[in-house]
Amino acid sequence: MILLIEESLKSFADYGISIPVAGSRARAVLAALESHAVLGGIRDKWLVRGAPEPITREDLIRAHDLAYVELLLSDHPEPAVLEAYELLDESGAYRRFDPGTARRPLRELVVKSLANVVGTHQACLAALEHGFCFFLGGGMHHAMSDRGRGFCLLNDAVIALRKLRSAGRATTVWVIDTDAHRGDGTAELCLSDNQTRTLSIHMAEGWPLDGPVLDGAGRLARERYPSTIDIPVPEGGEEFYLDCLEHGMRLLWAMSLGKPPDLAIVVAGSDPHELDELESAKPMRLNSGQMFARDMFLYDWLDRRQIPQAWLMAGGYGKQSWKVYARFLVPVLLKRITGSPGPVPGFDTLQS
Ligand SMILES: [Zn+2]
Repeated sequence: MILLIEESLKSFADYGISIPVAGSRARAVLAALESHAVLGGIRDKWLVRGAPEPITREDLIRAHDLAYVELLLSDHPEPAVLEAYELLDESGAYRRFDPGTARRPLRELVVKSLANVVGTHQACLAALEHGFCFFLGGGMHHAMSDRGRGFCLLNDAVIALRKLRSAGRATTVWVIDTDAHRGDGTAELCLSDNQTRTLSIHMAEGWPLDGPVLDGAGRLARERYPSTIDIPVPEGGEEFYLDCLEHGMRLLWAMSLGKPPDLAIVVAGSDPHELDELESAKPMRLNSGQMFARDMFLYDWLDRRQIPQAWLMAGGYGKQSWKVYARFLVPVLLKRITGSPGPVPGFDTLQS
């Protein structure tokens, strides 16, 4: 299933923010699937438009600190938004933000983020029901307990998995993060969560691993709190990427004593791709074949073990990034619906 939530699709440009997200990746993926010769005619079998249950204050405080949640839900959450989207430079001047071009107030980014949380939660429910759901949004993996960072205001995956657990829908959960940047917010939030295991495979250097290792009190900085399994891939290590990921999954399986989790959430950033346009993702340059192999490996690995899988878009920047998702989703949806994956579309021939 593919899940779309309209509210989550609002453009950052509407808020006066320039982040190199070209147009809407979600709309481009959807258009490519809708124009596919087979999938286009059976849209009702794979597309869900969200009419989800709302996320409450109680849901948010299962993951985030009360004071932070109250700031976000207040009439003036702007300080939290400015910090999460890094809209102030060291002198306090605006960067990548021009209020003069904004058509919507900055505080509405909280609404957009909440829509992403809703989508992630609904995608998890759909995955539990159908085995697989890909949400065209979500993956805000840098959001920490008391603040947002790295364009992430709320940690949708952690909020969703705790909400599922409180409702008795899923107890043990894996969060598998293949975004180019380490899933540091998820690691911090899940450090003491014994029923959640986190795996992050990411760039070994650069943001967010370029800050101090210790905080001002000489303790390990919270941004450095470990995932259950961290796999840092050095620049130039692309040819070993898939082997590292396979090894990580074997380790995750062994640590779980061969018992599958109730749910796996895959934070499937497309920013490791060589054509991604975000400066901080440049050290990782997987080609289109390696990206496809990454996603198909994870999908098959989880599917073979009948582990329900909810996929989130996470990071991906520039004109080509949507193609990584579309190329993966065409064969997966075809296989699930018709029993045959059909030919894999060429990266360069994909049209939205
Ligand atoms: Zn990223």
